[in-house]
Amino acid sequence: MSFPPIRPELAGIEPYGAPQLPIDRVPVQLNVNENPYGPSEECIADIAAAAADAARTLNRYPDREFVALRTALASYLSRDVAGEITPDQVWAANGSNEVMLQLLQAFGGPGRTALSFAPTYSMYPEYARDTHTRWVAGRREDDFSLDLDVARDLVKTEQPGVILLPSPNNPTGTALPPDAIGVLCEAAGDGLVVVDEAYGEFRRAGVPSALELLPTYRNLVVTRTMSKAFAGAGLRLGYLAADPAICDAIRVVRLPYHLSAVTQAVALAALGHAPELLSKVDELRAERDALVDWLRSESYDIADSDANFVLFGRFADRHAVWQGLLDRGVLIRETGPDGWLRVSVGTPDEMAAFRAALIEVTQSDV
Ligand code: PMP
Repeated sequence: MSFPPIRPELAGIEPYGAPQLPIDRVPVQLNVNENPYGPSEECIADIAAAAADAARTLNRYPDREFVALRTALASYLSRDVAGEITPDQVWAANGSNEVMLQLLQAFGGPGRTALSFAPTYSMYPEYARDTHTRWVAGRREDDFSLDLDVARDLVKTEQPGVILLPSPNNPTGTALPPDAIGVLCEAAGDGLVVVDEAYGEFRRAGVPSALELLPTYRNLVVTRTMSKAFAGAGLRLGYLAADPAICDAIRVVRLPYHLSAVTQAVALAALGHAPELLSKVDELRAERDALVDWLRSESYDIADSDANFVLFGRFADRHAVWQGLLDRGVLIRETGPDGWLRVSVGTPDEMAAFRAALIEVTQSDV
């Protein structure tokens, strides 16, 4: 056996991750759907004070049940729905990636299936692989929507333990209508339907959150993150809302004290500044819509986007375009179906730099 004695199915696999390049070399970074706006000095001061308070207790383990944070997240989510979301309906972990991995640890596993519809978020098959869950990917239509009859049939045939539905979808930006979620919750039977709303806050007006459906479907889980609209990617805090029995089941698989005292304190302080941290969402949506209009006027194919990024194409050699942009100091993401590229929505200056670089690259030999 070769060294190290890694599980054979993991041998030779590259770890997941977009290139991380220094900002002084690549000033325009539009590749991982971050919020380009950082916190105010006032918010920074509150976060620093909260971290200092947490530091005073670092000799002790943190609150394993993170009650204060669950309570704050529940009241934050309750603002988005007609009824109330209670703290026992909320769970959190270090990013929504960890939340979803825990869901697969508890509800996937050997003999069970996880299902999504491609193109979809590329971490999902990794959660499945790492939890020995069988992975099935159905397909989206050419416009990246779901054909509900086909999707329902696939769910009935495969009987997945967990269905992963990003809405808005990454990398296409497509949001799911509520009736689609309802149909799949019913078709899933005892299986969980996880609606991944990492980009939920960027939805266009009139597209409701799946949170509204929680009282109707016991098997529905809605995941969210502080990484995107909330401008807290560095914080690593993702969370979910679901039936309390689902949260309880996750407690069986989570590592003890998985949320550090510093994470809990900083997340709580950041939630206290929610209006400020979310204040750029409207601007980012307007910037996204302007980007879509501009790309269309330049005759690109575009996937309609409810997120803070846009998938556009198609290029005979997308890698050459990606590289040409990088050579001009603009980093975007080479992802999605062949021929397409994904760009995150940044500040007006960053978008101007992207547009200028794209014109240059496509007018050169590429
Ligand atoms: N879901 C989707 C659809 C994503 O695109 C991402 C991040 N790229 C995540 C979940 C995970 O984000 P985080 O772990 O930062 O919460």
